[in-house]
Amino acid sequence: MTDSSRQARQALANTRFTTYWLDSLDAVDDEAALERDINCDLLVVGGGFCGLWAAIQAKEQSPAREVVLIEARSIANGASGRPAAIMSTSVMHGIDNTERIFPDDVAELERLGRENMDAFKQTLERYRIDCDIEWGGEMKVSIGDDGLATIDADHELYLKYGHDAVKLDKAGVQTEIRSPLFHGGTWSRQRSGTVHPGKLVRGLKRAALELGVRLFENTPHLANRKTPGGVLVETLHADITASKVLLATNAWATGHRHIRRRVAAIRDRIVVTEPLTAEQMDKVGWHNRQGIYDTRTQLNYMRLTADNRILFGGRLAYFFGNNTDPAQDKTPQPFIRLVQSFYRTFPQLAAEIRFSHAWSGPIGLTTRMAVHYQKYHHGDMVYAGGYSGFGVTASRFGARVGLAILDRLEIPETRMQFALTLPDYIPPEPFRWIGAQVTMYALDTLDEKGGWRKLWVRMVQKMGFPITL
Ligand SMILES: Cc1cc2nc3c(=O)[nH]c(=O)nc-3n(C[C@H](O)[C@H](O)[C@H](O)COP(=O)(O)OP(=O)(O)OC[C@H]3O[C@@H](n4cnc5c(N)ncnc54)[C@H](O)[C@@H]3O)c2cc1C
Repeated sequence: MTDSSRQARQALANTRFTTYWLDSLDAVDDEAALERDINCDLLVVGGGFCGLWAAIQAKEQSPAREVVLIEARSIANGASGRPAAIMSTSVMHGIDNTERIFPDDVAELERLGRENMDAFKQTLERYRIDCDIEWGGEMKVSIGDDGLATIDADHELYLKYGHDAVKLDKAGVQTEIRSPLFHGGTWSRQRSGTVHPGKLVRGLKRAALELGVRLFENTPHLANRKTPGGVLVETLHADITASKVLLATNAWATGHRHIRRRVAAIRDRIVVTEPLTAEQMDKVGWHNRQGIYDTRTQLNYMRLTADNRILFGGRLAYFFGNNTDPAQDKTPQPFIRLVQSFYRTFPQLAAEIRFSHAWSGPIGLTTRMAVHYQKYHHGDMVYAGGYSGFGVTASRFGARVGLAILDRLEIPETRMQFALTLPDYIPPEPFRWIGAQVTMYALDTLDEKGGWRKLWVRMVQKMGFPITL
């Protein structure tokens, strides 16, 4: 065992392997499970951000509409209770990804992203949702000099599409946050930052209930079939007859066996430190409290919490069969490696820091890395998901467009390519699992060893995944 690995084990000795965001809040009782058959106009399946935003917006648009939301376990059981929760203006997983997947629509998608953030903020004000928002902006940093070209390209995109962005050289980035790894960065300063996702999800749940949404927890969708007037959904104890169904189950891809042809359930891991003391904060700087991510594909991302913990994330994994169960990811090794990355990023804290929480969460990954819509039962059931790693605020937008597609509304968004087309197929098992294992290994060792790894990564790029070499 190396010294760094021993140190990481010790730093994780008293760690709670559960999401800090929900663990930091008082426990609340679940809403009752559905016990008897009901009818409704709209059924939303899945109680994460996407499902809650869909239910809220449906009620706001038509208060008389009977809206039901069912969640298999408790609200925020999925990614929404587990993200880093760096908020981005982008609704398509970053401005660079938008340029990659929809180069003709970047200006309009960026405009829609700004509109979405403004409406997001207004909604929180309207329902008095206090969720520790800090508008420190989002900052992409280059690890060493390798990512500087990416920083230049992203910065140009930011300027081209009207962001209030500054480019930072090595000294500039060190003024913002002290890490020997960071050699440059681009910082978009408006309409982005960080949020406490546990408080946000609880606030959205309260708002949905206040608006009259009927919400049932511990009520898994088990099966569905077309009926003359809509869709019948079977749950554990009762059936729901709905005119329309929105599947907001992201990485679970629940509702139709074909959904997961385009959606892979990837995991990502996060560790959170104990609160930093004033002296420790002085050692890192970070006075503007940005949400930060780096330029690599096996990237790390980081942010501060309201009580000055550092949240540090990023070790992707895939478990056979699109497995989404957090209990499947309690082996210490990946978390030890994540802590070692933390040490390389903040060596000034390595000797003294302890980690209070560690967890992993399911990401609904597609080749486009952004929300898409799959229609079933003649369009009366729509899956809206695949936000990949950028869904905390984009899910409000994704849900709004998903509702319009379900309602067959002719709005400009439903005529855009992101709503009309689908991401590419991802190979089925066992190729999916084998491919994921080889890709993770290749990415982990690419920099030191190169060779066949580069050929493999190029092949994965050809399949549509945005992996950088
Ligand atoms: C580790 C990690 C870090 C992330 N960091 C960021 C970040 O910094 N910024 C950002 O913008 N995004 C981030 N994300 C992504 C973001 O969290 C997600 O895109 C977003 O939460 C997706 O919301 P959702 O409602 O679509 O999915 P989820 O929150 O996963 O909700 C799906 C829900 O469906 C329920 N469900 C599944 N099957 C059934 C069924 N049969 N019946 C009923 N309910 C069912 C699940 O229990 C779950 O609650 C991160 C994600 C992870 C995992």
